[in-house]
Amino acid sequence: MKVTAYFEDHKNIIEEELKKAKKEVVAAVAWINFELYNDVFIALLEREIQLKIICTDNPSNRRYMDCIKNLQKKGAVIKLLQMPSNNNHMHHKFAIIDGVTILNGSFNWSLNAAKSFENLTVIENCNSEAKKFLREFDAILKIEKETIKKLQKFSRCKNCIDGELLNVLVFSEQSTEYSETYGDVICVCNNCLEFDKIEECVQDSQIYTLINELSGASDDFEYDHIEEYLYQHLASHSDLDIHAIGKVKSTVDWQDNDDVETRILWKNKFVGDRLPDSLDHDFGVYYDN
Ligand SMILES: [Zn+2]
Repeated sequence: MKVTAYFEDHKNIIEEELKKAKKEVVAAVAWINFELYNDVFIALLEREIQLKIICTDNPSNRRYMDCIKNLQKKGAVIKLLQMPSNNNHMHHKFAIIDGVTILNGSFNWSLNAAKSFENLTVIENCNSEAKKFLREFDAILKIEKETIKKLQKFSRCKNCIDGELLNVLVFSEQSTEYSETYGDVICVCNNCLEFDKIEECVQDSQIYTLINELSGASDDFEYDHIEEYLYQHLASHSDLDIHAIGKVKSTVDWQDNDDVETRILWKNKFVGDRLPDSLDHDFGVYYDN
């Protein structure tokens, strides 16, 4: 891994890095002057490099719609992301080249950015971190304004003062002999844990095996793998507005007392610390053979 920080000459550095691409350029950059970078983008497409770009849907990016449409016609995937409110932004400024080089910093790909104090760091040969950026990119590429709105909105609990309601897909601890695991989607208060079941018997055929197979692996590996898988899993239940996915886990302590909890394995965007990593309940999610 090689890390280099730059505080000047950002446009040239970005162009030089983009020119090195052999297969794919993925960029999430809030503001892009598509005219300024048009030649570089066209050159990439002519060399049959996959070009995927997300920028913010705002008037300054929309000025370049002719340019954008032309790039799209030549095969580029370009998304102008709409946010639910003018105060929310897709504020990233990163690009991933061939899945291994990361360009990241404060620098927008615009003329104006060249007049400000900005930074850009180029990280080469960093597969694992690049993967995280690519996952973030995919998540933003798939997400729509309405989904962002739903995920940002939390309903208040009627049972307590400070609680917020979240939808959590909780998988049972047990699985069938064919490694099928079943779960329920519960709407739970993050404060008093009052809950309602909103969908039952959601089936999954990989989660049990995945968690058990990887339980011997290192923490990083385990988490990375599960998170990636759960993200795909969520995509197949996208109509449910799931804030998090968890699994029931019971343990017996030294006094032979059963202790049961729901371990949160994955959280959707905008959930953060609104949901702790473990909930002191199994929410009646129990499916056996
Ligand atoms: Zn509550």
